[in-house]
Amino acid sequence: MLLLKAIAETQSACAQIRGEGHILGLVPTMGALHEGHLSLVRAARAECNVVAVSIFVNPTQFGPNEDFGKYPRSFDQDCTLLEHEGVDLIFAPAVDEMYPAGASTFVLVEGVSERLDGASRPGHFRGVTTVVSKLFHIVMPHKAFFGQKDAAQVAILRKMVRDLNFPLSLIVCPIVREADGLALSSRNRYLSEKERRQALVFHRALRKIEEAVASGEKSSSRLIEKARGVFAEETDVRVDYIAVVNPDTLENVPDVKNGALVAVAAFVGTTRLIDNVVI
Ligand code: AMP
Repeated sequence: MLLLKAIAETQSACAQIRGEGHILGLVPTMGALHEGHLSLVRAARAECNVVAVSIFVNPTQFGPNEDFGKYPRSFDQDCTLLEHEGVDLIFAPAVDEMYPAGASTFVLVEGVSERLDGASRPGHFRGVTTVVSKLFHIVMPHKAFFGQKDAAQVAILRKMVRDLNFPLSLIVCPIVREADGLALSSRNRYLSEKERRQALVFHRALRKIEEAVASGEKSSSRLIEKARGVFAEETDVRVDYIAVVNPDTLENVPDVKNGALVAVAAFVGTTRLIDNVVI
């Protein structure tokens, strides 16, 4: 397994891989890897004969009062996990390699980047689309793998790939959950035992919505009301948003007759978690 930190070196290694006729897959991550990330790696392994994983905690997607400084980092353990998965290349640049002094170019997918997490975390998706564009330019993968866990991110990246004609396919993999339903997230490491239990309210609320839809409820506002009722049972969990949206535009939809994305963000203590279900 190649471990590279320099952009130039990574570009030439990846150019050589493509030149040899291999199908190159990229799995972008911020490290602190868990089974959710590894599911993307396995999907990439299944579809590509060379797999690259990037590990980069991207400062431009964190707000000034967010957790960039304390975001979990477990680089050595991440490398061991990726080696076991048969990953061929890890790209793990330093911040000043990706953003040298004076870097002032950003990629923004207008409109859609201001919805859901983009509304609560101004600038977040501009940081995501900028770093993912850079990773695409550096690695030039044939296929890039992302998790449905970050459903808004997927919608925005799909649009970016289309709008900017990136010559690659974006592959979206299902949400990996713990046995009790909690969606895996690097930020789950912040949770105390009590908060970990409280965080199960996400799954209960989304299940409630699925059940309501299964028994014929179509109204978005009534579905949101039901989910809010479930969240109200956990007084230490503060809802940021519960939204029923078009999965491509992230705009609110009045009902789920044509399908919808139900997305939830809430603070468990000081930890902000997200989850979603597609109806
Ligand atoms: P992150 O390291 O949080 O930036 O995540 C890297 C990639 O892993 C993103 O495409 C995420 O959507 C994906 N991911 C994170 N958690 C999960 C999960 N529980 N199931 C599936 N994919 C996930």
